[in-house]
Amino acid sequence: MQVGADSVKPGAVLTADRRTGQKGGVLTIRHRRVKSALTKTGGFLSGFSHSLTPYWGCSYGSSCFYCYVAESQIQRFHADGRAWGEWVTAKINIAEVLERELDRLARRDIRPRIYCSGSTDPFQPRLEPRYGLSGQCLEVLGRFPPALLVLQTRSPLVERYFELIAAIPTAVLNLTIETDDDSVRRKLTPGCATVERRLAVARAATARGIFTQISVSPALPHNPERFAGLIADACRRVIVDDFFHGDGARGARSRRRLVPERLAQHGYPGWFGPDTTRRLMAALIERMGEERVGYSQAGFNRGLTETA
Ligand code: SF4
Repeated sequence: MQVGADSVKPGAVLTADRRTGQKGGVLTIRHRRVKSALTKTGGFLSGFSHSLTPYWGCSYGSSCFYCYVAESQIQRFHADGRAWGEWVTAKINIAEVLERELDRLARRDIRPRIYCSGSTDPFQPRLEPRYGLSGQCLEVLGRFPPALLVLQTRSPLVERYFELIAAIPTAVLNLTIETDDDSVRRKLTPGCATVERRLAVARAATARGIFTQISVSPALPHNPERFAGLIADACRRVIVDDFFHGDGARGARSRRRLVPERLAQHGYPGWFGPDTTRRLMAALIERMGEERVGYSQAGFNRGLTETA
């Protein structure tokens, strides 16, 4: 299944993906050999010791209009003048470096708590089928099981890796689904898989025994009761967040990303503010109980304590 990195030349420019059929804008791909795989972390990721990022950049970036990584140092230092979502650097030797690092940690009896990833989607349909870097990392992690591994994705491609994920007892699949309304998804995040497709992935992962969280983060316009009904049985836990609290700056970063303007432009002017997820939280707690529903950073970290 995995395709070697050499099958795509560095600097290749893709305008659509012949292999997966996924359309997208121009995407420039570069290759990089890295010296380290795991990065020590803190801040929002305080529940983790390290992050793991197989790709710099994210090909979903032209679709995720709110993505805060677009303002990060990754975009500043690696974009080479290209917009967020129009470039990706594949760390082509990351799996072998990861294996060396995990081996070194294991010799010191250290099992890391790994977040993969806060700055890219490890299962991007335009990248991962060609390079297989995240899959290769999962194989390594299967040999050196970490104390915790959270895989953050919105991509149905993750289904191909269920066997590898299920073999890591501490793995948690965090699947992003921001709305129950596919017309909202089409308008606001058109490059992402449909709501129904992602719900099917969550159900299949849960049925496969994978600890699955649905990440309604950040919540896009939705029908609270309907949304809660759709996700309650599809996962073990739900984490809800909004543009106001979830950006860590009381909405300032979201404003810089022009989130209120974008919502208003598509007919959703009331969906930016501190109170947009109250009804959804109430509906979820009613169906799932408080222990299975978390809110924002505190809820995310509480869930990690319970899983690992
Ligand atoms: S998938 Fe995540 S990292 Fe990638 S563009 Fe969307 S929000 Fe940003």
